[in-house]
Amino acid sequence: MPELPEVEIMCRNLARWSLGRPLCQVDVVDSAVDSGGVEEWARKARGRTVGRVWRRGKYAVVELADAEHSLVLHFRMTGKLVAADPERRSSVRIILRLAPEAGRPDCLVFDDARRLGNAWALATAELQDWFETSRKLGPEPWPVHRPAAFWASQLGSIRSPIKVALMRQDRVAGLGNIAASEILWRAGVSPTRQACSLSLEQWDRLAAAVPAFITDTIEREGGDEIAYVNSRGASSHGNPSPFSVYRCDGQPCPRCRAPIERFKQSGRSTFWCAACQEG
Ligand SMILES: [Zn+2]
Repeated sequence: MPELPEVEIMCRNLARWSLGRPLCQVDVVDSAVDSGGVEEWARKARGRTVGRVWRRGKYAVVELADAEHSLVLHFRMTGKLVAADPERRSSVRIILRLAPEAGRPDCLVFDDARRLGNAWALATAELQDWFETSRKLGPEPWPVHRPAAFWASQLGSIRSPIKVALMRQDRVAGLGNIAASEILWRAGVSPTRQACSLSLEQWDRLAAAVPAFITDTIEREGGDEIAYVNSRGASSHGNPSPFSVYRCDGQPCPRCRAPIERFKQSGRSTFWCAACQEG
């Protein structure tokens, strides 16, 4: 499932493939992906140049030069943006066809096996407001540095376990189930600890763990196509899991060698080391 680092990688790829190039055609192959305005946007996009690609939380935004509206993509469980021949993909939802150019791919595909992803075309000037009010996204945890005081103020009043609090998109945008387990392992904080009970030192370790997890994940997973650990059960590198604790239950903790454990919190699997993540 794509979380902040994976969406960041896809945005960087999309920018590398498409910036400055005119779109010659946009095909909305699966009209169910259109949560508002995309088919009309697709008609108007023809001939316009890709001007900017950016991320907000787990959403990707494609801005066109001289166009009022932008394309917003939400990947949900299995959505991904790839440079590919659409004939060779089985779950194509949108195709962005670019004017041919040597050295860059001509076809970009929004591929989505479970078809849970969404797309919108929205006024670019109103996007930040839409993310905050309609999607209820809190501030970004990265790349701007967020100190311990930020985390304490965003999450410190929540009366639920810190693992659950980290996934609250209205408090901090972009962190999902994988990130929450991995960040808490890095910070040495128990996922069961109540968010409102963390010490300043624990917030400090959390503040350091977040950017470390995000930048390491981008570096490790960066490439033309991301293999989601959830959809295939293995990373693109052939390991059972590319993470330190996520889906590593029964394996030794990379830090202390005690076995990684798994349990459910709010219906989602949490992975942790009971020996070195303090309660
Ligand atoms: Zn451990």
